[in-house]
Amino acid sequence: MKFGFDIDDTLINLRQFAFEIYSRKLNKQVDIAEFHKLTDVPIHSLFGLTREEGGRMWNDNRSEIYFTACPPFPNAIEVLQQLVEDGHEVYYITARAPEFCEQTREWMIAAGFPVDPDKFYCGMSDTEKVHIIRKLGLDYYFDDKPAVLDTLAELPLLKAYVKDTSYNRQLTIPRITDWHELLTVLQEAAGNDGAEQQGSR
Ligand SMILES: [Mg+2]
Repeated sequence: MKFGFDIDDTLINLRQFAFEIYSRKLNKQVDIAEFHKLTDVPIHSLFGLTREEGGRMWNDNRSEIYFTACPPFPNAIEVLQQLVEDGHEVYYITARAPEFCEQTREWMIAAGFPVDPDKFYCGMSDTEKVHIIRKLGLDYYFDDKPAVLDTLAELPLLKAYVKDTSYNRQLTIPRITDWHELLTVLQEAAGNDGAEQQGSR
């Protein structure tokens, strides 16, 4: 089967890593509980920054946020490796800006993710992801952003999952909180397929 993954805040804990960088650079300690209460993606409000200042902070620090020590979410690397080992296809679909794409691919490889360079899509907008997902004929797709997931309803055969974060709890589609749950989802799906085949005999 074909599995597609967003990267930032789906496979790696990017916003929280940026939160730590902001805390250090702005010398401002903010309770992490406040971070976990945010109902929107941007984090600048926690540091008293305006939207414009927040945009500048993000852009000025993007290389450090993207390409240093951002931790993958627990079990993300292991589960994706398992998928490849089991003969599945793993695609990455990230809306990072084009100038960061090549370095992002190299960073993902260095971090231990199984990356086939031909299955790495980068540099599109959030709303363009749906076209790539359709063209690839993905069976499963995982993302954290409501703005992306909301576009996927037009693909009835796609199994779309939301990676749980504080700003997407309103979504009612299936949810992954820890990546090890994906293996259970697949085992259950395989079990259901078997039952259906037996039932149709
Ligand atoms: Mg994301």
